[in-house]
Amino acid sequence: MRILIVEDESAIAEVEKAYLERDGYSVDVAADGLKALEFFNSEAIYDLILLDLMLPGMQGIDVCREIRRKSNVPIIMVTARSGEVDVISGLDAGADDYIVKPFSPKILMARIRSNLRKSESSDVAFSQVIEVGDSLKIDVSNFTVKNNDEEISLTRNEFLILSKLAERPEKTWSRDELITYALGYEYDGFERSIDSYIKNIRKKLAGPEHENGYILTVHGFGYRISEK
Ligand code: CA
Repeated sequence: MRILIVEDESAIAEVEKAYLERDGYSVDVAADGLKALEFFNSEAIYDLILLDLMLPGMQGIDVCREIRRKSNVPIIMVTARSGEVDVISGLDAGADDYIVKPFSPKILMARIRSNLRKSESSDVAFSQVIEVGDSLKIDVSNFTVKNNDEEISLTRNEFLILSKLAERPEKTWSRDELITYALGYEYDGFERSIDSYIKNIRKKLAGPEHENGYILTVHGFGYRISEK
C-alpha cells in the first residue's frame, strides 16, 4: 500500500510518515500542491492521499478537485480546528473524510485503515462501465466506448464529455457545467466549443436508432444524454 502525504509543515509530515512506515505503508511526501500533483501524475499508484488543506501556493481544495477528475483514490483532508467552511468545501470537492489538527496519530491511522477498507469494498461493487440504453457502453476504467459492440474512437475531451453526460442521464448540463465538470477548470477553450465536441460525438455515435448519437439538445440551456 502506498500513501501520498501532502503537508507543508515538515514536523507534521515526519510524524505521519513515521507512523505509516511503521505499519508497513510506502510513503511519499509532497510539501506543496504542485509537487503533490507531480507525484500523483507520476508512475506511482497511490492507495490513499492525506491532504493538508492549508498549503502555500496551490490550495488543498484545488489539489483535491484536480485529483478527483482522474481518480477515485480515497482522500483524507487535514484541516485546522476552525475550518468548518474548509471541511464542507473539501467534501464538496470530492474528499472522502477529514481529520482536524492537532490529531492523535493513532486516530489518524484508524481513519486511514477505515478509508482503505471502504475503498477496497467499493472497488469490487463499483461498476466501471456506464451503460446507456442497450447499445452504448462507456468503460471509464480504460477509456473505451462501445456502440452495438463496435469500439468507437473518441478524443480525450469527447470521452470526458460523453461520460459526464452518461453519469447522470436525467440531468441537463449547461455548457459551462460541462466545461467545469468534464474538462476541468484549466480548460481554456470557448464555451461554444462544447458544441463542436458534441457534434463530433454525435457523428461518431449516430445510427438509425440514435440519430442524435444519444445526445439531446435542450434549447437555451445545454445538453443531456438520452437512452431512447
Ligand atoms: Ca499547512
